Amino acid sequence: MAQTANQNTVDNGLKNELMKKGIVIASLNDLYNWGRRSSIWPMQFGLACCAIEMIATACARYDIARFGAELFRPSPRQADMMIVSGTVTKKMAPQVVRLYNQMAEPKYVITMGACSIAGGPFIDGYNVLKGIDRYIPVDVHLPGCPPRPEALLYGLMELQKKIDSQEIETTEWYQKGMKREYPVPDFGPHGLIPKFNPEVWNPRQNDHRKERYGGPILIGKKTKAPDLEAVAAAPKPAAPAAPNPPNA
Ligand code: SF4
Repeated sequence: MAQTANQNTVDNGLKNELMKKGIVIASLNDLYNWGRRSSIWPMQFGLACCAIEMIATACARYDIARFGAELFRPSPRQADMMIVSGTVTKKMAPQVVRLYNQMAEPKYVITMGACSIAGGPFIDGYNVLKGIDRYIPVDVHLPGCPPRPEALLYGLMELQKKIDSQEIETTEWYQKGMKREYPVPDFGPHGLIPKFNPEVWNPRQNDHRKERYGGPILIGKKTKAPDLEAVAAAPKPAAPAAPNPPNA
């Protein structure tokens, strides 16, 4: 018999024919994945404007409950999915990573909006992280500023497809020695320490922007970052002399 993508041993056509006669055949993988994908509990937290769209997705018009994903949990211990909905500032990033580490397996992440994917409109900001995927693994990237509720539902369906393709024998959370806790960065005087987690994300070795766009990208007149240490070490200007006291 033909094998399907998730290694079921029963042909889908045969399954459909049997189903018409009231006989349901399912593998353990089917049941396991069906249960997980139909009851994803998201974590209840939002970071900026994208969170409003996330909230709208849970309201009556879009009704995320149709996918069994309406139970937003206030505790990471009870959540399966983290929707990073909004701008991740460098001050907030350690908390996001800590919450991810506290979630139970199996756990998934959707980055919602340009901000959480790559910094969005704040990409040149000194205080905004250029993508939460530098610290935690992301399953679905959802572009937009903000993505509409339909887009979040689409992202959820893509995640369900991913869950459907997983197998109980090979899923990483049942493997020995699996490590899905990532170092929580420190918020130092010049940003996050370390700047990224090499287990999850590696910066590109080569800059291909010149080939793609025909020239280096310069934003404004700034061509290089200021040397903050030199600025701090520079001698401070002398304080102005105090004015003469008024005559008694
Ligand atoms: S992507 Fe746009 S809408 Fe979403 S948090 Fe960033 S600025 Fe706001």
